Amino acid sequence: MEPIKIILVDDLSFMRDAIRQILENSNMSVLGEAENGMEAVKMYMELKPDIVLMDITMPVMDGLESLKRIRQYDPGAKVIMCSALGQQKYIIKAIQFGARDFILKPFLSERILSAVSKAAGINDK
Ligand SMILES: [Mg+2]
Repeated sequence: MEPIKIILVDDLSFMRDAIRQILENSNMSVLGEAENGMEAVKMYMELKPDIVLMDITMPVMDGLESLKRIRQYDPGAKVIMCSALGQQKYIIKAIQFGARDFILKPFLSERILSAVSKAAGINDK
């Protein structure tokens, strides 16, 4: 089976590193990393990943706006929001914009892996 292809979006490089390690240890493929929502939209169009893991609070363009734009471009896009504790207020908006899941940081690696596998197995395109 081909590995699940993912792009990671977070303004903090240590957070991207941590998530990349979790994914690569489980034979998932990280196609690219973006540090803001604008880069993420461009990267999505170029790389066509299976899954996007997206932070919310970022400079230039936040994760909710980026989620909205990615879903406008590809209504089947599978985006998992991954955000800090205290940002639960964004969950409803994220779901309205079509997010597949909402993971609160700090997270367990099992939570990331199960969300990615579950989202990758669902196909509503
Ligand atoms: Mg952030």
